[in-house]
Amino acid sequence: MAKEYQIARTAGRCCRCDKVLDQREEFQAVLIEQGEQFVRQDWCLACWESPQRGEVAGLFGQWRSRMPEKQARKKLFVDDGMLLNFFLRLGGQAEAARVNFRFVLALVLLRKKLLSYEGTRKSPDGGEVWAMRIKGEEQVQEVVNPRLDEQRITEVSQQLGEILQGEL
Ligand SMILES: [Zn+2]
Repeated sequence: MAKEYQIARTAGRCCRCDKVLDQREEFQAVLIEQGEQFVRQDWCLACWESPQRGEVAGLFGQWRSRMPEKQARKKLFVDDGMLLNFFLRLGGQAEAARVNFRFVLALVLLRKKLLSYEGTRKSPDGGEVWAMRIKGEEQVQEVVNPRLDEQRITEVSQQLGEILQGEL
């Protein structure tokens, strides 16, 4: 059951040239949409910035990151602005992978107090839609509650955590 959410772990290597990324080395992390799931790829800057790189299929988001020091505790490598950006870009979309991902992101942002919960309305098909607001903004963000069970929430959270390579 966890299978469909399996994602490629970042092995600390460039996905293009297979170079091992050094401790504290800066690299490009990208979020790729592959069918039903999101996967993360890491690129060394030489490959990413190479004129021969070409288009990256399914590119959904990207951020600069730095490899941790070996002993350092894993940290969340994605800043709050990037999380909000992913959240907004996943809005208004019906594919299950995107709806699930956005919902779990909303839970993360709620916990980080970057989103507030304003209420719930029923959608015409009997589903549940949460009204949420980004801190400091007036506009209401609607979040479809895909009614994931605990197991699924754990799976999607793990997927998200692995993509972001940090602790959520
Ligand atoms: Zn490379």
